[in-house]
Amino acid sequence: MTKTFKIAVLPGDGIGTEIVAEAVKVLEAVTEQTGHSFEISYGRIGGCAIDEDGTPLPEATVQICKDADAVLLGAVGGPKWDNNPGHLRPETGLLGIRKALGLFANLRPATMHKSLVEASSLKPEVVSGVDLMVVRELTGGIYFGEKKRYTDENGQDTAEDLLIYREDEVERIIRSAFDIARKRNKRLVSVDKANVLESSRLWRKVAERVGADYPDVELTHQLVDSCAMQLVRAPKQFDVIVTENMFGDILSDEAAMLTGSIGMLSSASLAEGSFGLYEPVHGSAPDIAGKGIANPLATILSVAMMLRYSLNLDEEAGRIENAVWAVLDAGHRTGDLTDDRSKALGTVEMGQLVREEMKKQFVSK
Ligand code: NAD
Repeated sequence: MTKTFKIAVLPGDGIGTEIVAEAVKVLEAVTEQTGHSFEISYGRIGGCAIDEDGTPLPEATVQICKDADAVLLGAVGGPKWDNNPGHLRPETGLLGIRKALGLFANLRPATMHKSLVEASSLKPEVVSGVDLMVVRELTGGIYFGEKKRYTDENGQDTAEDLLIYREDEVERIIRSAFDIARKRNKRLVSVDKANVLESSRLWRKVAERVGADYPDVELTHQLVDSCAMQLVRAPKQFDVIVTENMFGDILSDEAAMLTGSIGMLSSASLAEGSFGLYEPVHGSAPDIAGKGIANPLATILSVAMMLRYSLNLDEEAGRIENAVWAVLDAGHRTGDLTDDRSKALGTVEMGQLVREEMKKQFVSK
């Protein structure tokens, strides 16, 4: 049975419009192949919204997103708005949309495909075959706790950041991670600092309790310092990592860099239920905006995540991912992935190749 999905699309600024255009064409290709249709509503966010609407996050954009099954975002920002006051900065729109949509779980996959092994700063034998996912809690912990700044009784300038986690906050992110592990290789590493932090001891207790509901997923615990080390020593040991906000902020960047190129990194931020916002990890790349040379693959891979995690279209998600890897295997590269600029493809050409490959894979199914 074919379905219709409502997708909110927020291209944003800089290369955002170019890469999102290719990602939307991938959705159109899915429609051609499956009959599932996507009703797309466009909204403004970031710098373009500041210029047009006087705010980085217009209410109309929030409404479009709330009415949708999932959101696809490009990137925001650029030098034009760099010196604006806080409430008129493009990033304020990003934080606002995450809050307005209740996005509490951030998913950052790090997949090393064999044809890009040379792009990593680590040895090929260490990174070849890496395929892991970092699940980061996004709305709690020390980033959101009360902050204080005062002079203590000895006259020292002193600062406090409060780290609070409630059991229900921990439970929902741990459950999300178990659900994701179930869709992958069924191994979950919960990362904490339970030898020192009380919040981590709560985290570990909840992980153990929830784990009883997932007997098919192997749960282990790692201290954050050990995990940081293992990620560069032997990253292939990981399938899914789940951790709190600040540890996840750091580990997800570390994990992402195993794979070398920013133009390849996709991400998802999930709310309760199946709703999610999908976006490339990179920014609006003002230095190459408008030149038609941005790599659209991170955004196209974000669409694959959308199909898998919000729309339950696993097969189609896999087809997009396989098409991306096949295009890279065939030696095609955008400028960020090759030193040979004369052979570099443009954004539209790369998108076109991925769609042609999807078609081939669909026909040969
Ligand atoms: P950036 O990720 O935009 O660019 C860093 C470098 O990577 C640049 O040289 C750029 O050309 C290159 N690059 C990035 N994406 C690429 C792609 N798809 N293909 C080819 N090359 C690519 O980071 P930045 O330069 O620090 O930030 C630029 C702007 O983006 C700033 O205004 C920043 O605030 C904003 N930003 C937005 C987001 C977001 O929207 N989520 C994230 C990071 C930065």
